Amino acid sequence: MHFEDLSSYQYWQASPLHGVRNVGWLEPGHAFNQGQVDEAFTRKLTTLMNRRNPAKVHVNMIRGVRPCALCGADVFDQLDPSGDLLIGSSEIWIPSGDKKGWFAAPSMLLHYVVAHAYLPPAEFIAAAMTFRVDEALDAQAEYDRLVGVPLRPRHCARQDATPEPLQEPCGTPTNLSYSA
Ligand SMILES: [Zn+2]
Repeated sequence: MHFEDLSSYQYWQASPLHGVRNVGWLEPGHAFNQGQVDEAFTRKLTTLMNRRNPAKVHVNMIRGVRPCALCGADVFDQLDPSGDLLIGSSEIWIPSGDKKGWFAAPSMLLHYVVAHAYLPPAEFIAAAMTFRVDEALDAQAEYDRLVGVPLRPRHCARQDATPEPLQEPCGTPTNLSYSA
């Protein structure tokens, strides 16, 4: 799934969530910013992705791993020996620096930074660097509050009315039109 950096979040949404901005939704065939990040940022990103923190940043966790869109990697033992970072198995949502909105990124972000020299927007880096992992935060609850009952792709939607957490999309969405 490709979204432009800092565009409004619209993953499986009928309309964009304007307070939530995309970061790091990379796909082959779409250019992305590359550059050197401070090692401190990589360290902080690794720290804040740990699911055992009081601050829970993971949203829409799936079982298994969605491989890297760019290189197909699906094993991240070096980056995540304990498996606590959930690389490729979720999105991460962190508050923007002014706390008025959120950034939403695939948890593959850490691999994109380390292995593909992806350079996230400066706003995101700043928000990550000031993020407090020791303060209670529940990004999934915020997602649920903002999204309500999520849309499901038509081709894999069940017809019952029971809301469920978002599942791994079962293929290319056919019911969404995306504009940045
Ligand atoms: Zn890769």
